[in-house]
Amino acid sequence: MEFDYVIVGAGSAGCAIANRLSARSDISVALLEAGGEDRSPWIHIPVGYFKTMGNPKTDWCYKTEADPGLNGRAINWPRGKVLGGSSSINGLLYPPDLPLLGIAFALRHEALW
Ligand SMILES: Cc1cc2nc3c(=O)[nH]c(=O)nc-3n(C[C@H](O)[C@H](O)[C@H](O)COP(=O)(O)OP(=O)(O)OC[C@H]3O[C@@H](n4cnc5c(N)ncnc54)[C@H](O)[C@@H]3O)c2cc1C
Repeated sequence: MEFDYVIVGAGSAGCAIANRLSARSDISVALLEAGGEDRSPWIHIPVGYFKTMGNPKTDWCYKTEADPGLNGRAINWPRGKVLGGSSSINGLLYPPDLPLLGIAFALRHEALW
């Protein structure tokens, strides 16, 4: 199969780009995701992240190297491995000024689309 665009990773950025590109009927898009579907109910309820973080079904379960700045400790470094990526396992928090930043970004980059 051939596609005009192949997007690797169906996380926040990948899904947004795939959505915008696939809205054009003259463009074919493939969106590849290493993780599974986002069917776990813990993904869809607030504060479900305490069940999705550290869960190999939804998290890559990375760990940092031991860091001298952390008194030699290694810490967990969660990243989403599921449809929706890290936005499927995140805390659903947003700073109140982000919508304004988003609008400014969209206006500035409208020519790209
Ligand atoms: C635990 C946690 C809590 C967070 N809380 C908040 C919050 O409250 N508010 C907020 O604004 N932000 C939060 N964030 C940050 C926010 O979720 C991320 O910044 C954002 O989702 C990153 O988007 P992204 O597209 O760069 O990457 P991701 O959304 O992580 O997407 C990357 C995707 O690529 C896939 N992938 C990787 N390698 C491959 C491969 N080789 N082949 C195929 N697929 C691959 C991954 O599985 C994943 O689905 C949080 C993040 C985490 C991890």
